[in-house]
Amino acid sequence: AAEQADVVIIGSGGAGLSAAVTAHDLGKKVIVLEKMAMVGGNTNRAAGGLNAAETKPQAKLGIKDSIESHFNDTIKGGHYLNNPDLDHKLTDNAKYSVDFINDLGGDLNDVGMMAGASQKRAHRPTGGGFVGAEVVRTLYKASKDRNIDIRTMADAQKLIVKDGKVVGVQFKQGKKPAQIVHAKAVVIASGGFSANQAMVAKIDPKLKGFATTNQPGATGDGIIMGEKVGAATVDMKQIQTHPTVVPGNGEMITEAVRGNGAILVNKEGKRFINELQTRDVVSAAELKQTDKVGYLFFDNSVRKSLKAIETYIKKGLVTEGKTPEELAQKLGINADNLKTTLTEYAKFQADKKDAQFGRADMPRPLTEAPYYAVMVTPAVHHTMGGLRINTEAQVLNHKGNVIPGLFAAGEVTGGVHGGNRLGGNAMADIVTFGRIAGRNAAENPTGVI
Ligand code: ADP
Repeated sequence: AAEQADVVIIGSGGAGLSAAVTAHDLGKKVIVLEKMAMVGGNTNRAAGGLNAAETKPQAKLGIKDSIESHFNDTIKGGHYLNNPDLDHKLTDNAKYSVDFINDLGGDLNDVGMMAGASQKRAHRPTGGGFVGAEVVRTLYKASKDRNIDIRTMADAQKLIVKDGKVVGVQFKQGKKPAQIVHAKAVVIASGGFSANQAMVAKIDPKLKGFATTNQPGATGDGIIMGEKVGAATVDMKQIQTHPTVVPGNGEMITEAVRGNGAILVNKEGKRFINELQTRDVVSAAELKQTDKVGYLFFDNSVRKSLKAIETYIKKGLVTEGKTPEELAQKLGINADNLKTTLTEYAKFQADKKDAQFGRADMPRPLTEAPYYAVMVTPAVHHTMGGLRINTEAQVLNHKGNVIPGLFAAGEVTGGVHGGNRLGGNAMADIVTFGRIAGRNAAENPTGVI
């Protein structure tokens, strides 16, 4: 006979593990299926913070924020394509997500500022550490302490439906034959599809050939499995790219490097864009350059202005030269043109007018040796679209009706972030809706809530 659980969760990122701990603590037998060898998914890579307003850490730090402001920033950042009901649910409940992680022994007690936010509301570990790793560490430890059954290398392949209800999952673990586990409810928490280049390029041909910042398991399986049982999707075309990613390894170089003065040059040693344009515009310009790459170029003054650069240097991502010529030689780019580019740029900077590309803010002339460069290319970073859910994390069909027994949370869903996700809101989304999905899957698997 097939195995039986109360709640089966597909994916062990922040959404899946939040759902797992929540359903377990309501007395349910939970099984988590994770297709990769390690838990944590893309959540492991989240750097910024978990956005929440009116929280205890904010109060302690004297930060005056409001849920209304978080809501307004979120829909503005999403170009007003967001589903406002989902965003009210998100912003009303994000503060409990901070409590949830901290009460489980995590540390989200530092609060920082992120782009698109009116207030400091990005919760992260004390000292400004990486939020994703902290949340995964906390949730994984909580799962272990509770003996929650988490199976790695367990690839969910198909949802089992009976009489219009989702009643289980077929999965394949390693070389074993496919298995079925029956459940009263299934939570899809399998993340986005940034690492599925065929799916990305089919939806948006402009993104053909893009690398990704995501882990290789982010292939959209949950969306495909959901669609097969009649789930509707929303905002699938809304795909976020990041323009400064190191080719090959998906390491993302923060926008602050350009903000603090770096320029972008091509293999010919020439600038090709206003470096401070939006992510989509800079990405498109890079793709028109030789070998579809650019070089983030900066000098010692930029290096000294930004701690993150030391991390990139330690990781071996940065090439250094005593002079621009030496650097150009090491990179194999045109040295004469690079020299001319730098002379021109220093003049634009002094004149406070970029006669070539109209860049408004040029904080540094880039004349202090040594010089540095990082080869970059655009990469797919986040997929805003996905399964259509209601505010109780129930998956909806094309008529807008609940598919009994089926819940979804996290990046696999659409509607929360509209046309553009703000930094810090993915973490808020996955923990908040992960908990809602876990609770409802446990308490009311098939009913109308
Ligand atoms: P979120 O941020 O929404 O929690 P993550 O990307 O952090 O999403 O985590 C999703 C997890 O789901 C990843 O670890 C990924 O490997 C896993 N996953 C994706 N597809 C499947 C599948 N078919 N079966 C099991 N796990 C899957």
